[in-house]
Amino acid sequence: MFAGSLALTGCALGPVQPLPSDTAARLAPVRFLLTFDDGPDSGPYGGTPLILRQLADNPVTPGIKALFFVQTEHRLRGGGPEGRAQMRATCAQGQLMAVHSGMAEGHTSHTRLPSDVLAASLRRGAADIALQCGAALPVVRPPTWRHDARTEGVYGQVGMAMLMTDANARDGKFWGWNISLRRRPHMRHELERVGQAMAAGRLQPVEGVTPVLVAFHDPNGFTAMNMTGYLRILVETARDNGLPLADPPFYTDTQAAARAALARAKAGVYARESWP
Ligand SMILES: [Zn+2]
Repeated sequence: MFAGSLALTGCALGPVQPLPSDTAARLAPVRFLLTFDDGPDSGPYGGTPLILRQLADNPVTPGIKALFFVQTEHRLRGGGPEGRAQMRATCAQGQLMAVHSGMAEGHTSHTRLPSDVLAASLRRGAADIALQCGAALPVVRPPTWRHDARTEGVYGQVGMAMLMTDANARDGKFWGWNISLRRRPHMRHELERVGQAMAAGRLQPVEGVTPVLVAFHDPNGFTAMNMTGYLRILVETARDNGLPLADPPFYTDTQAAARAALARAKAGVYARESWP
């Protein structure tokens, strides 16, 4: 039974090695910058409103500000009237928004698009966000993380910088339900990698804290229903790893979150060096 469940998740997650306290003491404390890909997921049972309610009101850090990478043209996402209304409601809560995909077909890998098509889609995406939110944050998260020198060049041409992640909840559609059962040991290992990157001086502090990017997917129903649990898991598994935590441990200031995202995109260095 136990062996079977390990086989399901594909790997056995052993104990982590916490940072030595003298190492932790010289590091700028962690402030989590949450990102959500693939939405908006609107409607009374949609993932986005459920997540927004928990970011606003939770026992860990009320009033969390996050960054939503949206699909602006897919008819069930930002391309329909409900999706557009959701984008407006998300930004009205002080959340940040940026382009994930500006294609009507939705989640298309940027590496498969000709440069002019990709550039036009990103410009349309930013314009669509601006209509609902005033402005898009000029960063882009490539669908399925696929990018290359050419697509990064296109991002630069349209004034955007690529933003990847330090930790990944692995709640994208490719991973299925089984990962969610092991989300705590998984996150503990994600943050072990973050601690190693911080100790090696790879993660650039911004305004006295170390912004740590964590990637979620707001259309994932499990994530949406368990967001408050994830907030607890992040704080608790950071402590398991001996990571110093900022107060508050999550961004609550929209502009500070924006500056952190832009600085990290510009630096282009992450705790992860590959992305699932
Ligand atoms: Zn995606």
